[in-house]
Amino acid sequence: MLGLMQNQPLLISMLLAFAERHHGDGEIVSRRVEGDIHRYTYRDLAGRARQLANTLDKSGLGQGDRVATLAWNGYRHLELYFGVTGSGRVVHTLNPRLHPEQLVWIINHAEDAVLCFDMSFLPLIQAVHAKCPTVKTWVALCDADKLPEGSGIPNLVSYEAWIGGASDQYVWPQFDENSAAGLCYTSGTTGNPKGALYSHRSTVLHAYGGALPDAMNRSARDSMMPGVPMFPVNAWGLPYGAALTGCKLVFPGPAMDGKSLYELMEAEGVTMAAGVPTIWQMLLAHVQGGKLKFSTLTRTVIGGSACPPAMIDTFREDFGVDVLHAWGMTETSPLGSVSTLKNKHLKLPAAQQMAIRVKQGRAICGVDMRIVGDDGQEQPWDGKTYGDLQVRGPWVMASYFKGQSPLVTDQNGVRWFPTGDVATIDADGYMQITDRSKDVIKSGGEWISSIDIENIAMAHPAIAMAACIGMPHPKWDERPIVAVVTKPGAEVTREELLKFYEGRTAKWQIPDDVVFVEAIPLGATGKMLKTKLRELLKDYKLPTS
Ligand code: ADP
Repeated sequence: MLGLMQNQPLLISMLLAFAERHHGDGEIVSRRVEGDIHRYTYRDLAGRARQLANTLDKSGLGQGDRVATLAWNGYRHLELYFGVTGSGRVVHTLNPRLHPEQLVWIINHAEDAVLCFDMSFLPLIQAVHAKCPTVKTWVALCDADKLPEGSGIPNLVSYEAWIGGASDQYVWPQFDENSAAGLCYTSGTTGNPKGALYSHRSTVLHAYGGALPDAMNRSARDSMMPGVPMFPVNAWGLPYGAALTGCKLVFPGPAMDGKSLYELMEAEGVTMAAGVPTIWQMLLAHVQGGKLKFSTLTRTVIGGSACPPAMIDTFREDFGVDVLHAWGMTETSPLGSVSTLKNKHLKLPAAQQMAIRVKQGRAICGVDMRIVGDDGQEQPWDGKTYGDLQVRGPWVMASYFKGQSPLVTDQNGVRWFPTGDVATIDADGYMQITDRSKDVIKSGGEWISSIDIENIAMAHPAIAMAACIGMPHPKWDERPIVAVVTKPGAEVTREELLKFYEGRTAKWQIPDDVVFVEAIPLGATGKMLKTKLRELLKDYKLPTS
């Protein structure tokens, strides 16, 4: 017997319609590529998204056709998020930090029909457009009078001229909630980019899940700044999540340096921000350097790579800002887990609470996770036993776009996505990432967590960034070394740093060497690129004694 409830498909247009009707005057603030500040409301957003939908209909784009974006965080990009998906097309967010050849490969693989780009990427588009035959329309995200002449790009229009003549009246079509809505390729940190194709259903459920109090705790009282760009994983789903709650949205545009972020946060009363650790490192350096305070920020979501405990500590102790350490992947929309305390933890001493906060956290309802051994058997939740992390749920990918399904089936026929991460899970369900399986260091048959080694170095006051990798060793197979970048003006010797490890980790886990480098190579989403670091250190030899 079926229930007798309305069968309304979960569509992204529903989020926008809600925001317009119930939070019509809710503010959306964007720093534009031109440097000025643009302000409008959810009502304006909805009207312009409808103009865009009419434009796409008129240009003959079919259901499921891809509209690509190459743009910073801002209101026009937001309109594309809603107008493209709401009208039944797929918004494909491209990462401008990728190598041009990789971009060309992705555009052709995705068969993008339209490509909308911020003017800062004009030279990049000029360099690649001839190699992208599927793109029929190039749209510069600018006013009509800012369109460059003689750009050499055929069928180039300005966004404002493109949507300008269209009506802002439009009835959002109703279709299967499993229809494709968003396409995002992995940044290729560990291999060739692969496309994750989100559906309306997965996007809406992910927006609900992410708003939960034990996830990001988002509400209409928030002023939210996505410090994570809108190209990796839809800025972690924050724009959709914002419409679901009607919170104020603050977009930093291309100005992602510490000073610009801080000034915008203070000016717009940002209460919640989200981004990868490298962004917050720049922000903290600015705030500490200027002896400044956060006057409205209450919490920041940090994920994408392991957040050093020292950063969580600084935010909490020096600035009264809670860090929500989160884990996720392109393939998981991305939110999988967030570290928040349980009721029984509230009376624990601060140090014990901290030991929980630094973990990658508990699964959000909707995501199930487990760890398995080499034989595929589930491992105990004791907080010590390592295993390969597997996840499943309605916003976890089933198959790559035009590719294979990586899912594995357990003995009960349940299908899991293997994350490629190695983790422990404790009795309370808190997951902690030890490493990516490719980065695990195996010394004398024992695993050493590169994240643990990096976190200790990062706790040293002179260290700005640390990356630990394994080096071949004749006796132990591999031994860890740590490559470090020192803070400007700070000094530390190899011996001092190695001494700093004593008492902070088991003796055999202390790195064999410290390599001082000017910078650690970062990937397109601001994560450390250990593949590149290994290449740079290919001639390195471990000390013999
Ligand atoms: P790519 O695989 O190209 O780097 P993703 O953004 O999908 O692109 O990366 C997901 C990976 O990032 C995870 O599998 C995990 O290794 C890492 N990651 C994400 N969040 C965290 C976190 N909080 N702590 C440690 N690692 C994390």
